[in-house]
Amino acid sequence: MAQVTEAEILDRLKSVVEPDSGKDIVTLGMISGLVVKDGNVGFSIEVAPEKGPASEPLRQTAEKAIHELPGVVSATVVLTAHRPQGQSAPPPQAPPQPQQQQQAKPLAPGVQHIVAVASGKGGVGKSTTAVNLAMGLAAGGRTVGLLDADIYGPSQPRMMGISGKPSSADGKVLEPMENYGVKVMSMGFLVDEETPMIWRGPMVMSALQQMLRDVNWGDLDVMIVDMPPGTGDAQLTMAQQVPLAGAVIVSTPQDIALLDARKGLNMFRKVDVPVLGFIENMSYFLCPSCGHQADIFGHGGAREEAERLGIEFLGEIPLHLDIRETSDGGQPIVTSRPDSDHAAAYRAIADRIWEKLSAAEGTEARKAPKFVIQ
Ligand code: ADP
Repeated sequence: MAQVTEAEILDRLKSVVEPDSGKDIVTLGMISGLVVKDGNVGFSIEVAPEKGPASEPLRQTAEKAIHELPGVVSATVVLTAHRPQGQSAPPPQAPPQPQQQQQAKPLAPGVQHIVAVASGKGGVGKSTTAVNLAMGLAAGGRTVGLLDADIYGPSQPRMMGISGKPSSADGKVLEPMENYGVKVMSMGFLVDEETPMIWRGPMVMSALQQMLRDVNWGDLDVMIVDMPPGTGDAQLTMAQQVPLAGAVIVSTPQDIALLDARKGLNMFRKVDVPVLGFIENMSYFLCPSCGHQADIFGHGGAREEAERLGIEFLGEIPLHLDIRETSDGGQPIVTSRPDSDHAAAYRAIADRIWEKLSAAEGTEARKAPKFVIQ
């Protein structure tokens, strides 16, 4: 079947009318971040913040319209309730202008570098890695924030040992929570643990943007973003809309996980975010009682894969009970057992990440968030 083109998608979206104005969403310049890959289509519809929830039917109509197009395998449409002040998105043309870029208001202006910690699938230890890297960066004297963007299953409140709700002095901007000298924000603070979190695409995007824009992060050297697992369209949109300085991909040594890691690499490449390196987690099993090492998952796969792909291998972390108990118990090992080998391994990786970020500083390309309308 013929591949669907961006021009065909924009053409079809001209039939989707925004009810208040009676004009179509393409003419109104509401479409951004259009991505088409092998019949999988993703884009956002930008709406005024006050119209956010009321725009869900519009989102559904657009999604359905695209889904019905021949050659479309999947359609993921998200609502974003953010518009840079004084700017309106230029209406995409058909055929669209390639690489037309637009500067947006920075989402977290005091933050020097934002780094995503991602994984191709869940359960590989992405959140554990993210929290320990944040601690490792802080241990080196940097001011650090941790943004838990794993909105489907936020684990940072537990891993950081923080409960309660963030406060707000003016009812608009939230103060981040803090522990071990690291500022933290997570959807887990805002939603009751009992509440089933059926976060759909649009809510995910606006929640992430809110956590960047409407939180008083202040000045930070670095912010670690714990991404939702996977490399689907929601993650792609996130990677595209957050001004990332780079990404780190966590993988276990199993082949299947490595395949997923490669997908992660491709995802970040697609949105022009440098991949700083791979980390192999649960690299080998260290027996907690005798210290014996067993390569239960076939140790070293990520290193080989990284070499093959020309990506830096940042380091390996063993599967060890102490790592699980400390992170699940709200006392990540880098802070609670700083003298352990595991803490040293995380710190070494954190230092290497910092070195790479510092070296890339001044390359203007990664400074401001950019919205690419293709
Ligand atoms: P993800 O974010 O990829 O879903 P988590 O970081 O939540 O994964 O980790 C899943 C589980 O595995 C948690 O219970 C965590 O404590 C544990 N875990 C992660 N890394 C290690 C490790 N290196 N050694 C032992 N347990 C680990």
